[in-house]
Amino acid sequence: MAKMIGADCKQCRREGCKLFLKGERCTTKKCAIERRPVAPGQHGTGRKRVTEYGTQLREKQKVKRAYGILEKQFHKYYEEAERMKGVTGENMLSLIERRLDNVVYRMGIGSSRSECRQIVNHGQITVNGKRVNIPSYQVKVGDIIAVKENKRDLDMFKQLKGMKVVMPKWLEFNSDTLEGKVLALPTREDIDLNIKEHLIIELYSR
Ligand code: SF4
Repeated sequence: MAKMIGADCKQCRREGCKLFLKGERCTTKKCAIERRPVAPGQHGTGRKRVTEYGTQLREKQKVKRAYGILEKQFHKYYEEAERMKGVTGENMLSLIERRLDNVVYRMGIGSSRSECRQIVNHGQITVNGKRVNIPSYQVKVGDIIAVKENKRDLDMFKQLKGMKVVMPKWLEFNSDTLEGKVLALPTREDIDLNIKEHLIIELYSR
């Protein structure tokens, strides 16, 4: 499977914001954005003139990097969002947010999206009782997402018991039963990334 290459913290520094790629470390003082909030490389501290194209590109890269999506798949989300009713940028973010790996992350089953992608890849998650090992699987309203029954004794899942997770209102998760539900489709206000999605749409409309 193709994957995004590059040190996680460098990706955040490149985009100038926290993309939360490294789990718990991201909320501590060890976060590279807290310690060194400049772009990586020799010219990271220099002032640069940013073109309109550059600004649009950076917004796209932010979303791709935060969710760990490659260009081809990202463009498919844009095309699908364009065919939907409503605001294309918001539709696109909603489609991306509905990926199974992201839902597992939002439920707090793993500490980062990349860890959650691995959990899904390894067949440790079920949707409506059936094993689903496709990270890009799109969840629907009413879907029951759970840790597979014969995996619940693994340390990484046992430690979730009783844990309180702050979750967006479109999801619920019971950390004792390791089961959750999709209550609604995510709206723009449910997505906490600081993204100007209209710039991405402008970029693709060029
Ligand atoms: Fe980004 Fe997390 Fe690294 Fe901070 S610790 S720079 S948020 S990946």
